[in-house]
Amino acid sequence: MPANILNLPQYRVLRVEESDHDYHVTAEPVDVTSACPHCQSDRLISWGTREQGFKDLPMHGKRVGIYIDTKRLRCQACGKTFSQALPMLAENRMMMTDRLVKSIGQQALKRTFTSLADETGVVEGTIRNIFRDYINELEQTVRFETPKWMGIDELHIINKPRCVVSNIQSNTIVDMLHNRNKDTVAKCLFQMPNRDKVQYVAMDMWTPYRDAVSAVLPDATIVIDKFHVVRMANDAMEKARKGLRAELTLKQKRGLMHDRCVMLKRERDLNDEERLNLDGWTKNYPALGEAYSLKEGFYGIYEAGTPEEALRRFEAWYRAISTEIRPYFADLVRAFTNWQPFIPNYFEHPVTNAYRESLNSLIRVMNRLGRGYSFEALRAKILFTEGIHSNKQKRPRFERKREPELVEMGYRLPDDAIGYGLPVMGRVHPMRAPEAYDPHKHAKREKNYGADIATLIRMIEAGEL
Ligand SMILES: [Zn+2]
Repeated sequence: MPANILNLPQYRVLRVEESDHDYHVTAEPVDVTSACPHCQSDRLISWGTREQGFKDLPMHGKRVGIYIDTKRLRCQACGKTFSQALPMLAENRMMMTDRLVKSIGQQALKRTFTSLADETGVVEGTIRNIFRDYINELEQTVRFETPKWMGIDELHIINKPRCVVSNIQSNTIVDMLHNRNKDTVAKCLFQMPNRDKVQYVAMDMWTPYRDAVSAVLPDATIVIDKFHVVRMANDAMEKARKGLRAELTLKQKRGLMHDRCVMLKRERDLNDEERLNLDGWTKNYPALGEAYSLKEGFYGIYEAGTPEEALRRFEAWYRAISTEIRPYFADLVRAFTNWQPFIPNYFEHPVTNAYRESLNSLIRVMNRLGRGYSFEALRAKILFTEGIHSNKQKRPRFERKREPELVEMGYRLPDDAIGYGLPVMGRVHPMRAPEAYDPHKHAKREKNYGADIATLIRMIEAGEL
């Protein structure tokens, strides 16, 4: 029998029974409790035993239970009874080893509660509680830098629009909120360390965001992200196309549906065939042509270099809208007018496109992630998964310790020499020079800018999250 199958030196393994799915390990603590925990007297007498079962880390794909005949003891000095000390076991009613509790907390960031329950034999409710405690612990220890350029967006996650707070300069997510109400957003902003560091906040035209930012970050400049404004021009184009449909035959309607994408494309991106299609429609239906050139004209406003120029361009654009077309563009005109000065602020502080594109890619893959999770669990996965953070030390490569004399020779062993079986093509890797130890570097906390969006997308696509 393996002397210590549990790899817990504090316990002596007495018996191991193995079944198809489980190991049942009977064990006893090596150290005998010799003093009363209440008065430190050593005058203890046996007061019976009771068998207790504890769950432990799964081994070889099997669930593990540890059974201990726990001694009850009575102190003759103070008269109190107590159980003998059981090291490495979680100090509460969970009946598990400490290491299992820790492992479940970490694993629950990557896996569903159901699969963990199946693997460990711990009931799902307990796993949920362990996970909640683990998240609370992470919330206390993992701190993200407050962004200078903040993005406040919404992503549709698990059936609801959720507010996502990001760092535009580092392309990272710093928080995800269960809804997009003013109070929720304000509370999140209020809790950020050094929140006066925030200089710009890019957002959608959503009044609760604006109100929350104005209340909590009065010195920050609000900028409406270009993306949200120009897509309203596309919406107007769509409305115009649908408005025209009533006048068409069924065959023409199908054709118009088919050429829908052409009308939403920028003129400069059209190929010859698309240009021909567009010309056909706009010649026969001038209203459609006008809507198209207004859409293009609106994009043109965003090529302005200053807020003043943008406003001038908008005035000219607005005057050119005919009464017939006006209703289709009414929402866009109203938004542009109502969201002063936040829309023109963009022309002084343009938000980087890299951030917008990565966020859009994230929206595309996000829904794959939600299955089987609560929002809280998903949020924790996104914010706290190991290796996801920007500028945070990654977990070191799995590597066997090198032999000292080989290190001195200036070479490291090729991978296959130490049993990895990886092809090395007969090449000997030169060893990297060991870094000088810098106590200041190690004492200083690494800056953590949040969950890296590109890493997040890569992990979701690879099924690693
Ligand atoms: Zn005592």
